[in-house]
Amino acid sequence: MFENKENRTELSDLGEFGLISQIAASTQVKNKSTVRGIGDDGAVLDAGDKKVVISTDMLVEGVHFDLVYCPLKHLGYKAVAVNLSDIYAMNASPSQITVSVALSSKFSLEAVEELYEGIHLACEKYEVDLVGGDTTSSLSGLIISITAIGFADESDIVYRNGARETDLVCVSGDLGSAYLGLQLLNREKQVFLDNPAAQPDLAGYDYLLERQLRPEPRRDIYEALKKAGIRPTAMIDVSDGLASELLHICDNSQAGCQVYEEKIPVDIKAAELAEEFNMNPITCALNGGEDYELLFTVPIADFEKIKMVKDVHLIGHITHKNAGCVMIEKGGQSIELKAQGLDGLR
Ligand code: ADP
Ligand code: MG
Repeated sequence: MFENKENRTELSDLGEFGLISQIAASTQVKNKSTVRGIGDDGAVLDAGDKKVVISTDMLVEGVHFDLVYCPLKHLGYKAVAVNLSDIYAMNASPSQITVSVALSSKFSLEAVEELYEGIHLACEKYEVDLVGGDTTSSLSGLIISITAIGFADESDIVYRNGARETDLVCVSGDLGSAYLGLQLLNREKQVFLDNPAAQPDLAGYDYLLERQLRPEPRRDIYEALKKAGIRPTAMIDVSDGLASELLHICDNSQAGCQVYEEKIPVDIKAAELAEEFNMNPITCALNGGEDYELLFTVPIADFEKIKMVKDVHLIGHITHKNAGCVMIEKGGQSIELKAQGLDGLR
């Protein structure tokens, strides 16, 4: 399509990040009010006194969610939550969203109302206003695209590129749980497809399911850092897995990092389930994604302050670029971090 066969590059060869790099390279910023364009969790625009932070994300049925096990209300909530997460990752606070949906004929008014129940619930909880969007039809399933907008003082905004040698690497919450929740849902779906009379065996895994189906953006961490007088030097939210996000911070900051396997926070239930699936829980934390935790760096001078912030874990430090991005395993070996992530185009 659109080109002769010899001159065709497969998107699957390029991958999502490769494609975004190509788009970024072909894009020029013309306006002085564009402070930051493509390349961070959100774009930053000049609005006089304040800066505007904008982020957008799209969820596609069959790619990002499966309505067999994802209730529409949860989907609406999650679609908002993942966008707000990007605004907090810029160290800004979201205040508005727009919501665009493409719907196929299988959806009724009642279904759309259920989706919006979740959207409104998230808007209420995080005190954001739904201020617009677009509605259109789709040939196959549901597509939902949300844009979140926040305002911040320029001096508060944190980019991916500010990490400096000796900075401490911190992450909130725990990692890998959302991915393991998804594995569980997929397993039970398969059991159900093989035998529709079978009851799903999900007991005891509420936390992992919640992490997958109903993630919460870490407004509490954003607020706790402010209260503690800490301004991270770099920050990103964990949507594609710890390894991928560490590499983004290090690439953008022209730095390396050293993180310790034993410091990476993994929930006990997640570790148990990983074992059941014959998976290494650390691999799930590194490559699973959809945790929507905040990964950030702080100057070593803030060590005493950051130690006091609840639910934040110190997992390593920033090094010189030449030292690369590595994880020190429990046995003391050092392994290079690779971005596997959830690359939808592969
Ligand atoms: P995140 O995981 O934080 O949502 P992404 O990896 O999706 O970030 O995107 C990285 C950067 O690339 C962001 O600045 C985003 O706005 C930009 N971007 C992604 N897709 C496109 C596109 N199709 N056109 C222009 N910019 C894009
Ligand atoms: Mg992000």
